[in-house]
Amino acid sequence: MSTLVEQARKVLKDNGSRWTKQRQQMIEILAEHPDHYIDFTDVDQRLRKDNPGLSHGTVYRNLKDFESLGIVETRQAGERMQVKVCCDSNHHHHFICDVCGRVQEIKMPPIDYAFFAKQLPGAKINGHTFELHGICANCRANKKKAK
Ligand SMILES: [Zn+2]
Ligand SMILES: [Zn+2]
Ligand SMILES: [Zn+2]
Repeated sequence: MSTLVEQARKVLKDNGSRWTKQRQQMIEILAEHPDHYIDFTDVDQRLRKDNPGLSHGTVYRNLKDFESLGIVETRQAGERMQVKVCCDSNHHHHFICDVCGRVQEIKMPPIDYAFFAKQLPGAKINGHTFELHGICANCRANKKKAK
């Protein structure tokens, strides 16, 4: 059993959540690429192929439980929801490589919500997403070598 699976199992147990074979399988699939987002549809399809009778609703609920416990993180890529195992720290953002898709954790200074609230009179801000993208150091080095 991989460390990521062990960690997820512990978090679920500590929070009184059920640990099922399907839940373990979901983490195993995500643990194959811990620093890449993958489409939730792919995870869903793999799980339901292995477990006939498993519903899309159950897979989705498992995902949401994992997300609320900080085990996985999700993002929207257009219409597609993507998922990966969570980085180490609670509040963080990502740098995502346009070439290889590798995700690196980044910190950001605290956000000045008042600055934005001023532009949105009468509105209530609930949260934010922030993402940097570009070419990662590995991909840049590989490109230089290829020349
Ligand atoms: Zn992260
Ligand atoms: Zn933030
Ligand atoms: Zn890269």
